Amino acid sequence: KFPVPSDIEVSQSIVRDVGLLPIEEVAREAGILPSELLPWGTGKAKVQFAAVLSRLRDAPHGNYVVCTGINPTPLGEGKSTTTVGLVQALGAILGRRAYACIRQPSQGPTFGIKGGAAGGGYAQVVPMEEFNLHLTGDIHAISASNNLLAAAIDSRMYHEDSQSDEALYRRLCPGGRGFSNVMRRRLVKLGIDPNSDPDDLTTEERSKFARLDIDPSTITWNRVLDVCDRHLRVIEVGLGPNETYQPRGTVGGETPRRQHARRTGFDIAVASEIMAVLALARDLADLRDKLGNMVVAYSRGGETVTADDLGCGGALTVLMKDAILPTLMQTVERTPVFVHAGPFANIAIGNSSIVADRLALKLAGEDGYVVTEAGFGADIGMEKFFNIKCRASGLKPKCAVIVATVRALKMHGGGPPVSAGKPLAREYTEEDVPLVTAGCCNLAKHIENARKFGVEVVVAINRFKSDTEAEVAAVREASIAAGAFDAVVANHWAEGGKGAEALGRAVIAACEASDVGNFRFLYDLELPIRAKVETISREIYGADGVDFSELAEQQMAQYESSGFGNLPICIAKTQYSFSCDPKAKGVPTGFRIFVREIRSCVGAGFLYPICGDIMTIPGLPTRPGFYDVDINVETGQVIGLF
Ligand code: ADP
Repeated sequence: KFPVPSDIEVSQSIVRDVGLLPIEEVAREAGILPSELLPWGTGKAKVQFAAVLSRLRDAPHGNYVVCTGINPTPLGEGKSTTTVGLVQALGAILGRRAYACIRQPSQGPTFGIKGGAAGGGYAQVVPMEEFNLHLTGDIHAISASNNLLAAAIDSRMYHEDSQSDEALYRRLCPGGRGFSNVMRRRLVKLGIDPNSDPDDLTTEERSKFARLDIDPSTITWNRVLDVCDRHLRVIEVGLGPNETYQPRGTVGGETPRRQHARRTGFDIAVASEIMAVLALARDLADLRDKLGNMVVAYSRGGETVTADDLGCGGALTVLMKDAILPTLMQTVERTPVFVHAGPFANIAIGNSSIVADRLALKLAGEDGYVVTEAGFGADIGMEKFFNIKCRASGLKPKCAVIVATVRALKMHGGGPPVSAGKPLAREYTEEDVPLVTAGCCNLAKHIENARKFGVEVVVAINRFKSDTEAEVAAVREASIAAGAFDAVVANHWAEGGKGAEALGRAVIAACEASDVGNFRFLYDLELPIRAKVETISREIYGADGVDFSELAEQQMAQYESSGFGNLPICIAKTQYSFSCDPKAKGVPTGFRIFVREIRSCVGAGFLYPICGDIMTIPGLPTRPGFYDVDINVETGQVIGLF
């Protein structure tokens, strides 16, 4: 239909006029058996991936393709749209087995500034309302799990403060009950025989076991919720009259009770380490280990305090047991899509799950294709996909699709800024070949970066109405000159899979030309933390070097002595530029990276240096997206979710 209606109108018209394929049918065509499917309404189902992987144990993997983009601009690039359009072309038009793996969006940005993330136009996952809202509850499970751990930390400190070691120990391990599974993990950490009986421990062992002695100033675990609620960034907890404690040794004495308050804060749910764990876990056992190993604080003696030390790792996993099953949905052209996990790309890895990718690769088989999306620009999303996600999964990609638009390249070439509510400047609506050519440096640097990992690169020029032939030709030429295997115009937004047929063919040809044996990481894990950060900064961002704050220096020393020095690096920085300055478009030079602090996600398995300001819970603008959202009370139909 022309002109192309809004994303939600396209989605609802497909559901109404064409109809969804029953999810059981989507599954059957995707190679999933009925016994491996847990239907969730009509358009969604959870997939028992472990059963599928065990059945297809000996099947070969399909072709693994990552879809990423140039540095984002307010003009939009369309990575999700292109991921979906490409699998529609591969599956519905070119007849290949093709699967998309994408992230579940956070409801924060959906009701805030960004809108949906199901793709757009005629390249979408449907029904988009279900995709963009609760889906199958995974993000809610993350919040539940995250907040249970937060409660465990504060209540443990409260209980420890008012009880002697022996009283604590006896409450944790009442006579006749033995140690629970979770407690045995702590015994192993302390070097105590996990098969001992609680009565057998020496007084010293009992104290060590029972008293975590958390240093409140080292707690890094925040509470979360999936709302852009800026007023929760910094909060004070424990102000109620009951959250007081009688200092130890004075129980029953005259000493006044003291308030047990502390400052903490909320993050958005998708920024929780539990989301990163979900994305990087290989299976249920790995999920259990990773959740239990999350370090939330240090003791006053400098020891790590983990979720398992708090007795919580098992319960966290139980809350996440359905969330680890990927959700199956379909595109507007009825091809299969796995939606799973959704960590932010600036502070976490910004990629969907290893579980979903592996499931799709097995189902795809040797001749099939899996297109997985890496968030934000290739300098962060793709770099983390290769160096963190592929390292954790052992899966080897063949091809990177880099999405660019003529309009966004014009901005990288020096085009004027855009402001909300104002019409676009002439530069973006009329032909300006020199401006596009100037901006192609940004695309070229991303192509060169992807080539460093040994994969083939295909540039997808996501067509906008205003693009001219000469502008598109300029992008093609610059892409090939920078080492791309091919660069093609794709019009899936307006035409669906048919519009991305040439892109599909180019990706097939690139995968045929690619040798997974050439795939390589950018750095060795054994290098010191400093050297790993420097390698990414120089090689990927083009920085002259890296400066570390005193705090970051101390943290590097602490992590290296705690045995976390060999984790991969997940740099948190702006997505808008190769540098840390969001206004520096194109390819900035002559800059250094400043690392303010380095946090750790020991359970998920990475260290994250923070460069510049980073928000772990966004705020709402004056006119948030929710102003447009309503419901037709006659039909129950959602309106205005763009
Ligand atoms: P990204 O993944 O890069 O953030 P999306 O794929 O989510 O971008 O697309 C953002 C928005 O841009 C969507 O609403 C989509 O409909 C719109 N869009 C994408 N491609 C085009 C295009 N070629 N023409 C017009 N609008 C587009």
